[in-house]
Amino acid sequence: EDIITGCKAAAAGGVTSLLAMPNTNPTTDSSEIVKYILDKAKDADSRVYVAASVTKGLKSEEPTDIDAVKSAGAIALTDDGRPVENTKYLSDAMKKAPKLGMTIVAHCEDLFLADGGKINEGEVSKKLGIKGIPAGAEDCGTAREIALAAALNEPIHICHVSTKTSVALIRDAKKRGVKVTAETAPHYVSLTDRELLRGDADYRMNPPLRTQADVDEIINGLCDGTLDAIATDHAPHTPEEKADFVKAPNGSIGMETSFAVCNTYLVKTGKMT
Ligand SMILES: [Zn+2]
Repeated sequence: EDIITGCKAAAAGGVTSLLAMPNTNPTTDSSEIVKYILDKAKDADSRVYVAASVTKGLKSEEPTDIDAVKSAGAIALTDDGRPVENTKYLSDAMKKAPKLGMTIVAHCEDLFLADGGKINEGEVSKKLGIKGIPAGAEDCGTAREIALAAALNEPIHICHVSTKTSVALIRDAKKRGVKVTAETAPHYVSLTDRELLRGDADYRMNPPLRTQADVDEIINGLCDGTLDAIATDHAPHTPEEKADFVKAPNGSIGMETSFAVCNTYLVKTGKMT
């Protein structure tokens, strides 16, 4: 996918504006790359906003020059695809971003707990004999982001919430006045990890598909306002890349189907209007 074809997929799904994440090749971590994306997007079918990375190359070794990417037109900062492993860099960015009108968008994951797992840890991972990612890996990340937002009294936006415990953490934080907003994705309101039994890598993404109890609580979170938005986490890969069930990279397409999925699973079921 490139900027033009990605925007065609967006337009086909009725998505008129999108936020392009920085975990591309190359990483969006400099003013030159932000400008390149915005320039290419001038002729695209959907409006493109740019999120630059918090750290260079998403490596948590060196912070991105926030002033430079802001001047070039980036509106958000995230190391999405990974967490910002160095909490000091995350904290520095959270203090600076609001002053520049930028949003920090968090991919919540404890990489030590995730430990290279491929699918949700549970009955299905045991049955398939595939290393699992515990829900706690996401929840520890969510808890860290909320703790930092509370300590700094600065805002944080949490990406692709997939677990019931993360919904509970966000609900509690909002009640306490922490400046947290959050989103989930269409696949987390419609699919469980049982889909993995098909052995199709298109059902592998990060965070992974979870259990029915998680799906139910994600929907509750949308209905009671704990979760503010639904975003696609659109992450396309070629059929060749997705050929091997275990070795394939994470991610699935989402923009063309997001409205239809949410309409089917949330509106037609009477759960939301
Ligand atoms: Zn992510």
